[in-house]
This record gives sequence, C-alpha cells and structure tokens, in this order.
Amino acid sequence: MTQQIVLATHNPHKVAEFARIVAATRPDLHVIGYDGPEPVEDGVNFAENALIKARAAARHTGLAALADDSGVAVAVMGGAPGIFSAYWAGHKKDAVANMHLLLDQLSDIADPHRKASFVSTIALVVPEKGSTAFAMEHVVEGRWHGRLATEPRGDGGFGYDPIFIPDGQEPGAERTVGEWSPEEKAAASHRAQAFIALGPLLSAL
Ligand code: IMP
Repeated sequence: MTQQIVLATHNPHKVAEFARIVAATRPDLHVIGYDGPEPVEDGVNFAENALIKARAAARHTGLAALADDSGVAVAVMGGAPGIFSAYWAGHKKDAVANMHLLLDQLSDIADPHRKASFVSTIALVVPEKGSTAFAMEHVVEGRWHGRLATEPRGDGGFGYDPIFIPDGQEPGAERTVGEWSPEEKAAASHRAQAFIALGPLLSAL
C-alpha cells in the first residue's frame, strides 16, 4: 500500500529535491505538498526548527509530516551561518546577497581553512488519531562535507550551491554543486543522507 506523507515546506527547491530523492529511494511513498500556515521558526537549532515545521503540518493535515531545516555551517565561523543561512544578508531571503556576504567575510581565509558543511535536519512527526498529541517524533541529520569556493560557479541548485565544493572529487576537476546535475546532487546531498537515515522509521509507519 502507498504510504502518504506531507512535506512541510513552501520552498520549491526543497520540494523538487525531495521528489527526486524519494523517487530514487522510496518510490512506495506518496509525498504530498503542504500549503497550510507556516509557523514561526524560533528554535535555537536545526532540530527545533524542523520539529516546529513538521508539528504544524501534522496538526494541520492529520497526516505524518516531514520537515527539513537546513543551512551551511562554516568551520572557521564556528558553524555560522547555520540556522541563519536563509537570512544571512538581511531579512529578505536573497540567495545572491547571502552568498556574496559570506564570500566577503571569508576573503582573507585561504585553503585549507575554508572547510564547510551543508546540514539537513529532518523531523518526522506522526499525529495521534483523535488527539492533539503526537504518536511519534523523530529527528535525523545529514551532513555533506566540503569547502567554499572563492567565487560562485554554476547556476544549478539553490542557495549556497554555487560556492560549495563537496569533498571526494578528483583534484583539478572539482565542481561546485551549482555545476552538478540535479541527479548528482540528489544522490549525495545532506538532504539525501538525512532522508536515507529516516528509512527504518518510515518503513514502520
Ligand atoms: P530553511 O528553509 O530555513 O531551512 O533555510 C535553508 C537555507 O539554507 C536556504 O535558504 C539556503 O540558503 C541554505 N540551504 C539549505 N539547503 C541548501 C542546499 O541544498 N544548497 C544550498 N543552500 C542550502
């Protein structure tokens, strides 16, 4: 039987990436978009924010809900921008301004000190039938290690993709995620790693 699950995000890039990851790894799942109210994300870490979003969608729809809270964590900046990644350059979600501010802040930092990770924390929340309580809450994390380029390259993906160079590429032929295909990103990303870590819990629904 096909299992229905709500994806609690209004971000079209995340929706497209999850659709690809789910189709490749869990074609038995039927992922439904969420257009209900967006809660205030006032958690102090990725896990709290992911739970806030998944609980809101589970409560609103009565269905099991998944939410991803994600961002880029730069080692020499103690993990910043972290949960502030979407708003790093101000209150508007301006991905280009965010990227350029981060590049400016790291302009004096050379390799090997430009290490960074993409982090995806996914919360799975299952509502309790006939109650406002939840039958299950679980949080998993995926981390994609790499470093930051000195200038953006490629126009694929979203957010900080054009300045993130994942580890494990052939020296001399390294590309930013902005230069990767959507399929390549879906097979390796922080989001894919977190989704795969959820596997056994999704099977138990
Ligand atoms: P959220 O919607 O609050 O989770 O914000 C996530 C922010 O982190 C996005 O707006 C991007 O700036 C950044 N981010 C998260 N995932 C990715 C990714 O896969 N590639 C590039 N940037 C990302």
